[in-house]
Amino acid sequence: MKQKLNLFKQSLQLVWESAPGWAVANIILSVIRSILPLLLVVLLKVLIDNITTAVKAGPEIADESIIWLIVAVAVVYFIDEISSDLSNWVRKNQSLKLEVYMYGLLHKKSISLDLINFERPEYFDILSRATREAPWRPNSILNNLISLLKGLASLLLMTGLIFTLHWSAAVILLAVNIPGIWLRFHYAALLYDFQKKQTPEARKSAYFNWLLTGDRPSRELRLFGLGEYFTGLFRKSFLKHREEELLIIRKRTFIEMTSGLFKAAALLFVLIFVAKRTVSGVISLGEMAMFLLAFRQGMTYIKEVFGSVSGIYEDSLFIGDTFEFLDLKDNIKAEEPAVKVRDFNDKIVLENLSFTYPGNRVKTIDNVSLQINKGEIIALVGPNGAGKSTLVRLLCRLYDPDSGKIKFDECDIMNFDPAEYRKQFSVVFQDFMLYNLSAGENIRLGDIENQDQDSKIRSAARSSGVDDLIASLPEGYDTAIGNLFDDSRELSWGEWQKIALARSLFRDAPFLILDEPSGALDADAEYEIFSRFRDIIKGRTALLISHKFTNVSLADRIIVLDKGAVAEAGTHEELMIREGIYYSMYTRQSSRFDK
Ligand code: ATP
Repeated sequence: MKQKLNLFKQSLQLVWESAPGWAVANIILSVIRSILPLLLVVLLKVLIDNITTAVKAGPEIADESIIWLIVAVAVVYFIDEISSDLSNWVRKNQSLKLEVYMYGLLHKKSISLDLINFERPEYFDILSRATREAPWRPNSILNNLISLLKGLASLLLMTGLIFTLHWSAAVILLAVNIPGIWLRFHYAALLYDFQKKQTPEARKSAYFNWLLTGDRPSRELRLFGLGEYFTGLFRKSFLKHREEELLIIRKRTFIEMTSGLFKAAALLFVLIFVAKRTVSGVISLGEMAMFLLAFRQGMTYIKEVFGSVSGIYEDSLFIGDTFEFLDLKDNIKAEEPAVKVRDFNDKIVLENLSFTYPGNRVKTIDNVSLQINKGEIIALVGPNGAGKSTLVRLLCRLYDPDSGKIKFDECDIMNFDPAEYRKQFSVVFQDFMLYNLSAGENIRLGDIENQDQDSKIRSAARSSGVDDLIASLPEGYDTAIGNLFDDSRELSWGEWQKIALARSLFRDAPFLILDEPSGALDADAEYEIFSRFRDIIKGRTALLISHKFTNVSLADRIIVLDKGAVAEAGTHEELMIREGIYYSMYTRQSSRFDK
């Protein structure tokens, strides 16, 4: 309970921080709207009584007050209507502000979060629940709270009015709603537990939906004729979690309908009671109308009050997921004593580095020690799954090792601010990004703080061999590339790869890492880049991962990784003499050409 109250408090804080002005407007309007219905009911009562008196007195003695009362009723009705519209408008504005604010928090967290989280399925479950709930739950808490206060105020006024008829009518009004309240609480908890349990299944159906509708899968889907198959998988997964949910809602609806019986019985009782009193002259026709309206309104308010209470309960269950996401800890940060990063000057040393992915049993990196000197070109080779890409992530401190150290010019990288440290690196990842932006922007993203550097962008594009292509596009470097938006031009995979290479060259980092950078380049482009490799990288230290041994042999030193450990290291000539793993991989690859 304490925890829920805490979440409730945190949510209101978010609502307040995101739009204090709109929150105040919302509260003021709700107070006004809680008073208006009672005013209307009382005015109607006076009006009916005055009309009854006028009917008895005859039409010639028409009372002027009737006209004024009719006008007053119409005015109150009008104010009620416009305050309702105004209230909707205020809520919409507030929701928008809150949505933007919550997305801001989610995105801030998502970009700062340790990369290792993206390797855990539980992370995606939390993320998916948080993104589903975060934009609207805090506002729902506020609206439920306001509606609770408004409902309570109106209910108290109406119950007081009904009390003047008879105390039992007031008690009945409250008592008949108790089953409904219990029901709402019970099912709120049930639905929450159910939805939490179903998150992996919901993500699975979202994945199948993407396979059926996404751009990337669209080609294989057609060629292999996978449409029907994935449709079946989607339907199975979707129905699995939605049908169970429907079952719970069906049960709740059935019990809710039964509880409606209590309410109908209560209304019947009050109707008979009021009718009898009116007929026997204890109350006037106006009072009869007033009590009936008050009872009907009272029922509505009580529903609103308890609906709001159970809504708040439900909100606090769901909002917990958002706070769980926002509270995820970042472990990759500067450890004490924090050291300022200086430009790379001497060497990077890896000492007994080991790393295991969460959930894996075997070490992906197993006791790796090596040194990279400033200005060296190092090639990292090895079979698939040897751990080459993982080592790059450790080097850039995207992951922290389980044991061992990385020293950057004698400083342990754990003492650096990770964002500052990463500025020393420029990387073309194996799964580099395609940005559906302009060609120039795609290159500029390598160093986003570097504005107005058109000549540098062009120079990077020339180095990676993509300048001519970009220049031939309808709007040159301003042409949008990709296939997502209007007026954009799609590129071939190899052309994208050249753009990614240009992006990495545009970044003024002393250390360049290229993870399989020529996989999709044509023979000419590859020759063009690697024959001038030293000129292109302009004296930077480079780590080159490649399965193409013609490119690898240009390196100053070659490190062979096998099953996460360094198996061999040396120059091309040394490794060939050694006749180990490198020798056999090299000769096998080159023998295909010799034939
Ligand atoms: P390739 O030459 O195929 O690119 P690699 O040498 O770059 O391979 P890595 O991508 O570093 O190899 O992967 C090394 C091992 O770690 C593989 O066995 C892989 O299954 C495992 N691995 C990679 N990423 C993850 C992950 N996110 N979670 C768990 N295991 C992973």
